[in-house]
Amino acid sequence: MTDCIFCKIVAGEIPCHKVYESRDFLAFLDINPKSEGHTLVIPKKHYTDIFDIPEKTLEKLILITQKIAKRFKEARVVDGVNILHASGKSAQQTVLHFHFHLLPRQTGDGLDLEPKSDYEKPDEEEMKEIVEKLRRRKA
Ligand code: 5GP
Ligand code: ZN
Repeated sequence: MTDCIFCKIVAGEIPCHKVYESRDFLAFLDINPKSEGHTLVIPKKHYTDIFDIPEKTLEKLILITQKIAKRFKEARVVDGVNILHASGKSAQQTVLHFHFHLLPRQTGDGLDLEPKSDYEKPDEEEMKEIVEKLRRRKA
């Protein structure tokens, strides 16, 4: 993808602070970090989101994310982590190249990830309808 920022980072056209690299995967510091060591973990090949990334790639990516989380913990940079992901504009994905955010956390670091929402709690009947819609699907 020629107009993708992360593809340009993979190609070395845009510099980054590499945290981890293998033949097919790359992890680098987020340019606008929300916590110390905020890292983006990506497949080098361009996939857009959770809907088009192949299962095997996703499996490997989450295992690499775990490996990096353990490194942060062993280096005592953190006592916890958040792993965040957005797929789709409605989900506030801004870079359309699949990525996990790995957010190292320390007690009292001031980062608040409590979601704010206008969504009204559904009643029992509505909850049943939601799962019924899903149950009819195969995948
Ligand atoms: P999203 O909003 O898609 O979940 O996350 C995209 C992330 O990419 C943002 O946190 C943003 O700061 C980061 N980002 C955008 N452009 C660059 C860049 O050129 N370099 C790096 N290292 N991070 C970037
Ligand atoms: Zn890309």
